Amino acid sequence: MTRPRPLLALNWKMNKTPSEARAWAADLAAALTPGGAELAVLAPAIDLPVLAGELPAGVALGGQDVSRHEAGAYTGEISAEMLRDVGATCVIVGHSERREYHAETDAVVAAKARQAQAFGLVPIVCVGESLDVRERGEQVNFTLDQLRGSTEGVGENLIVAYEPVWAIGTGRTATAKDAEEMAAAIRGALAGLYTAGAQSFRILYGGSVKPDNIASICAQPNVNGALVGGASLKVADVVAMNDAL
Ligand code: PEP
Repeated sequence: MTRPRPLLALNWKMNKTPSEARAWAADLAAALTPGGAELAVLAPAIDLPVLAGELPAGVALGGQDVSRHEAGAYTGEISAEMLRDVGATCVIVGHSERREYHAETDAVVAAKARQAQAFGLVPIVCVGESLDVRERGEQVNFTLDQLRGSTEGVGENLIVAYEPVWAIGTGRTATAKDAEEMAAAIRGALAGLYTAGAQSFRILYGGSVKPDNIASICAQPNVNGALVGGASLKVADVVAMNDAL
């Protein structure tokens, strides 16, 4: 199977007002050259309608979280149907910040992924170990357990993002070798969980990815792109990352 184009998934986190999102999209449209990557902007829900009308053609739109419920009395939540209606095609589930600050368990993450798929969205399921787990050398078992729990009952149309917690927003990046080792382990686990061929799964690396390290990480055989937080906020960095792929 030919290697798919790498995916550059841009997680803005809780940054950018709708006005700022509009300006960012216009700057991107002016600066983006056809690069090697597919792009997806994972923006705050309130920015999505603006981006839907402004992003350059071919740049996908996605959410950063989704309710595990379909509709109803869940104040403050955003449903999969709402995301789809505004033009999103994918959504992050189980980001470590959701797991940590909102106490999301693997079961909750899997329920969100199932809900996303029920409305045709591709869930980007985040997994990854904390520093203490890595220091104990238990990162592979930990991450694969988290993967199994977070994909319980989830269909095969998913993306997995390996994001070691100690590398997110810290400036500390896993080495390309670390990223590859875990991506290979994740691919092997997915092959055991699903009937689809192992190579059909997209596995991303996330954690302090920037223009100067993205190429070596994404060149690894089992890494199919990057989930990028901090370096997604400036258009110049996004263009540089796209050009590097
Ligand atoms: C993230 O938010 O998923 C992330 C990887 O952030 P950063 O690139 O800032 O480490």
